[in-house]
Amino acid sequence: MELTTSRHLLEPDDGLAAWLAAHGQPAWRAKAIRRWLFAGRALSFADMTDLPAAVRAELEADFTIWTTSIAMHHRADDGTEKLLLELADGHRIECVLLRDGDRRTVCISSQVGCAMGCVFCASGIDGVVRNLTTGEIVEQLLRLARLLPAHERLSHIVVMGMGEPLANLDRLLPALALAQHPDGLGISQRRITISTVGLPPAMDRLTAENPGYHLAVSLHAADDALRTRLVPVNKAIGVEAVMAAADRYWEASGRRLTFEYVLLGEVNDSPEHARRLARLIGGRAALLNVIPYNPVAGMPWKEPTNDARERFIGVLESAGINVQVRRRKGSRINAACGQLRRLAAQSTTDRPPASQSPVAQTKEPNSSTAASTTPRMPPSHTAQ
Ligand code: SAH
Repeated sequence: MELTTSRHLLEPDDGLAAWLAAHGQPAWRAKAIRRWLFAGRALSFADMTDLPAAVRAELEADFTIWTTSIAMHHRADDGTEKLLLELADGHRIECVLLRDGDRRTVCISSQVGCAMGCVFCASGIDGVVRNLTTGEIVEQLLRLARLLPAHERLSHIVVMGMGEPLANLDRLLPALALAQHPDGLGISQRRITISTVGLPPAMDRLTAENPGYHLAVSLHAADDALRTRLVPVNKAIGVEAVMAAADRYWEASGRRLTFEYVLLGEVNDSPEHARRLARLIGGRAALLNVIPYNPVAGMPWKEPTNDARERFIGVLESAGINVQVRRRKGSRINAACGQLRRLAAQSTTDRPPASQSPVAQTKEPNSSTAASTTPRMPPSHTAQ
């Protein structure tokens, strides 16, 4: 798709305000158009029925709303839905909608691939290709929002898909600002979690500029020898520096930190590992999110046994650590990082295995299956 002739409406520098002025249109139309896209779930300018028809046609000619197309759409029995989106340059990214009680959480990607190289993660196997643009990050939110029935809204965002979000803050932060905006998705900052491998300079930037987000730090090991084996970027950083940066964020935000720990069978799941971890994170207002390893084809790691997992958690809980075990959602549709993309890349036909339930396999940008409702303009909603 050629982007030079048609501007992407979801990018911060889309030029819409100048375009409206040049076409003799009132400035408030920019807000109206944004509301149609975010709250009204419009798929095209044609859906924006309160705009004059001539203006809609001119906008259609000069702007692109969607630069992604849906390459795959899977739905799991537990309500988890996953989209594989094809970008304008042919690269593919994943994003997920999770349903949990009243929560409608989306998990979005920040980069194509990942440079961090965590040894158990599918996203980084081929390294990083490029950062996503702000518009590409916003498109994930809008595409996932359109999977919900009209009366439901996205409630939470986790930036835990492909990529290292703190390596792409310049593009991520404007996207998250739009998500929070009352004319955007109206999702409050405290319902947005950014997950990082732990890059202290970027954590400090967030501390200085924007400490309102919920920060999750992926630890996976409490000592440098093991952490460097599992998370290669740790070699030049070190656990101590990651913890110090996490503490500075906490001081600025006052919000509980989350530490993530992928539990790999017989690698980092012994009671001694748990004791070391308890010593490292103890004394903080923190939540420990234990994530049993989600197997990735071709990787040598094992899931922890139930016994090992329970012993590990027991040691931490008796040390006073607040532990949560992440329930596995959508693993049958390869909802773990980077897995669907790899599966699709390996398959020449782009067909998911029979055990999965495709609800759409289309490359049409404005696929009707992507929209569960007819666009309509709901009343303005405010951020909570
Ligand atoms: N780069 C960021 C965010 C993306 S990954 C980070 O490292 O935090 C989100 C979480 O999923 C991280 O904690 C990551 O380590 C974890 N993860 C990656 N691959 C996994 C796998 N195969 N099984 C379980 N968790 C995994």
